[in-house]
Amino acid sequence: MRTYKIAAIPADGIGPEVIEAGLEVLSALEKRDGTIKFDVETFDWGSDYYKQHGVMMPDDGLEQLKPFDAIYFGAVGAADVPDHITLWGLRLPICQGFDQYANVRPTKIIPGVSSPLKDVGVGDLDWVIVRENSEGEYSGHGGRAHKGMPEEVGTEVSIFTRVGVTRIMRYAFALAQSRPRKHLTVVTKSNAQRFGMVMWDEIAAEIAAEFPDVTWDKMLVDAMTVRMVKDPKSIDTIVATNLHADILSDLAGALAGSLGVAPTANIDPEKRFPSMFEPIHGSAFDITGKGIANPVASFWTASQMLDHLGEPEASARLMRAVERVCADGIVTPDVGGTATTSEVTDAVCEAIRRENI
Ligand code: NAD
Ligand code: MN
Repeated sequence: MRTYKIAAIPADGIGPEVIEAGLEVLSALEKRDGTIKFDVETFDWGSDYYKQHGVMMPDDGLEQLKPFDAIYFGAVGAADVPDHITLWGLRLPICQGFDQYANVRPTKIIPGVSSPLKDVGVGDLDWVIVRENSEGEYSGHGGRAHKGMPEEVGTEVSIFTRVGVTRIMRYAFALAQSRPRKHLTVVTKSNAQRFGMVMWDEIAAEIAAEFPDVTWDKMLVDAMTVRMVKDPKSIDTIVATNLHADILSDLAGALAGSLGVAPTANIDPEKRFPSMFEPIHGSAFDITGKGIANPVASFWTASQMLDHLGEPEASARLMRAVERVCADGIVTPDVGGTATTSEVTDAVCEAIRRENI
């Protein structure tokens, strides 16, 4: 029996709804496989915890998470707690504390979910965006002088290091190499931003030499948004900075049909610490408690988690089950269906049980 210790942090809004659904599916996989076991512990951290304790997680939160093999995360965000507290109090400390420097965001069109792009269907859009997750524009450097005065100045300093850029570039080239088309697009804004971004371009060329079988090209981020809309088939793997990839991946999610299906993984490729798997979407308070949250993003990220844990067969089985259920039209209202979260979940569990391969 291969046992994996999973820390579940459902947190806020629809987070608990989609994580509960994901845990049911993992349990169906356990039964179907017979040789995998998930040892799940659930943590009640998040906005409700904050309202009681004044912090989103306990001071020794990272220490508590360290022994786990992976973290399965829902979403944060509450109407009555400021966003900077929910974001900087839980998700970011985990990403930064565990040096999860590669944020991996697969996007493809799932059968039964339609793209807003004309004539773009299943197979026409199959991308992975690699987002640098530890430095760049979100490194927290900057400040405000003369606050509130007419002469106020605010700075937002973007920091790139050779170590940081080299490691994300190597990760992205290796990922591109593992995909059928073996192509990487390196996105920067090196025409206008002349220092860190030019360094990105130079390091990309250096690392490319280590991967002779991977083809690659460079794009400016603004032109990349146009290419994503006009020529989605020309794209395979993308690597970009924290800010640029944040924006590109929201666009990618929209082009693939819905935020409710888009997954993400925050990975420490060296496996020194647990990596964290989560849907891209937030807590969606407009639909919380209605039982209609789309659980597909949380299933897909569970499949990323299985890959990371070294269980590619269970990962592929889960994705086949999800695609079959979506193709049968058992989908939630955000993608045009009428199914509830639990109907989709039951159907995916049933598809896992029945699959005879
Ligand atoms: P959101 O992702 O929560 O919701 C945006 C829209 O998409 C809403 O209409 C919502 O109903 C819909 N949606 C999202 N996920 C869905 C799903 N699984 N099924 C069906 N519909 C879904 O973004 P928002 O409304 O901008 O933010 C709400 C809160 O979430 C804010 O507090 C924000 O800071 C937070 N947030 C957190 C994360 C995160 O935890 N990683 C990410 C984004 C936003
Ligand atoms: Mn974003």
